[in-house]
Amino acid sequence: TTALGEQDAALVKGVLAHERRALAKTITLLESTRADHRERGRQVLEALLPHSGKSIRIGISGVPGVGKSTFIEALGMLLIGRGHRVAVLAIDPSSSISGGSILGDKTRMEQLSMRDEAFIRPSPSAGSLGGVADKTREAMLACEAAGFDIVIVETVGVGQSETEVAGMTDVFVLLQLPNAGDDLQAIKKGIVELADVVVFNKADIDLRATEMAVAQMQSALALLHPATQHWKVPVLKISATRGDGIDLFWQTIDGYRQSMESHGAIAARRRQQALAWMWHLIESGLHQRFNDNPGVKHALPALAQAVQAGTITPSAAARQLLNY
Ligand code: GDP
Repeated sequence: TTALGEQDAALVKGVLAHERRALAKTITLLESTRADHRERGRQVLEALLPHSGKSIRIGISGVPGVGKSTFIEALGMLLIGRGHRVAVLAIDPSSSISGGSILGDKTRMEQLSMRDEAFIRPSPSAGSLGGVADKTREAMLACEAAGFDIVIVETVGVGQSETEVAGMTDVFVLLQLPNAGDDLQAIKKGIVELADVVVFNKADIDLRATEMAVAQMQSALALLHPATQHWKVPVLKISATRGDGIDLFWQTIDGYRQSMESHGAIAARRRQQALAWMWHLIESGLHQRFNDNPGVKHALPALAQAVQAGTITPSAAARQLLNY
C-alpha cells in the first residue's frame, strides 16, 4: 500500500475523530466518477478498515409510502436518546430507471438529520462505475470507523435491491402495509423469505385489519424456510407516526442480536457476505476486462452479426472472444 497524501491522512484522522464532514468527504471520494478520486477513496477506506465492523447493521425495506423515513426517524431518535450513534444510508436503484429518485427528493428525517449523533446519506447515484450497492457497502464501513454503532441501510423494493441489502446487513427488516395486496406482492416476489423481522406499519389506521395481516403473515411464514437458522421470524405491528411499538421493535432487534451472537451466527453471516462480495467484484472485474479488451472490441461487432446471421455458432463465437 502506498502512503496516504497529506489531505487523505487528514481525512482518515477526521473520520476516526468522528467528524461527520470528513466521513461525508470520504464517501464522496468513494462514489466519485473520477478514477483518481476513487483510488484515493479506496486508500482512505483501507486505512479505516481496522476500525470498522463494530456496528449492528440493519437493513430496512418497504414500498414507497410504507413509512420508512417516519419509522427510521422515530427509531433513530429513540436510539440517540439511549446514547447510540446512528448512520442511515439509502439504496435507491430506481434513479437509474427513472432518472429521478424515489427516496431522495423530499426532505426526509428532519429531526434526525439535525442531530450530531446521526449521519444521513442519500443513495449513491446509479449509472456510474460499479453498482449502487457496492458503494453503500463501502460507505457502511466508513460509517463504522466514524463511530456509528448502528448503521441502517434503507431501500425501496425495486429490482435486486432487497437481496443486496439483505446481503450486507446483520438483520433484514421488511416493513409492510396492513393490506393483503402488499402482503401478496412481498410473498410472491420472494422478499418475505429474506426477512428476519416483519413489521406492519400504520397500525393506528385500522387495528383489526393490522392484526389480521399479522396473523396471515405468521401463517405464510410458517410455510417458508426461515431466512436465518435458529431464528423464528417475528411479526410486529407499529405506528411510526405515534411512536407505538418502536421500543418493542428495538427489543426484538436486540434479542435477535443476542441469540445470533450466542450461536456465532452474525460473524458467520458476515464471513459469508464478505466472500460473496469478493466473488461479485471478481465477476464484475472480469466483465469489465472483457469489455475493455482491444481484441474483443475489434472482433465483437462482426462476430455478433455472424451469430445473428447463423454463419457461426454462439459457442464458437464466444470461444473466439474469450481467447483474446
Ligand atoms: P416512505 O416513502 O416509506 O419513506 O414513507 P414516509 O415515511 O414518507 O411516509 C409516507 C406517509 O405515511 C407520510 O405521510 C407519513 O406521515 C405517513 N405515515 C408513516 N407512518 C405512519 C403511521 O404509522 N400511521 C399513519 N397513519 N401514517 C403514517
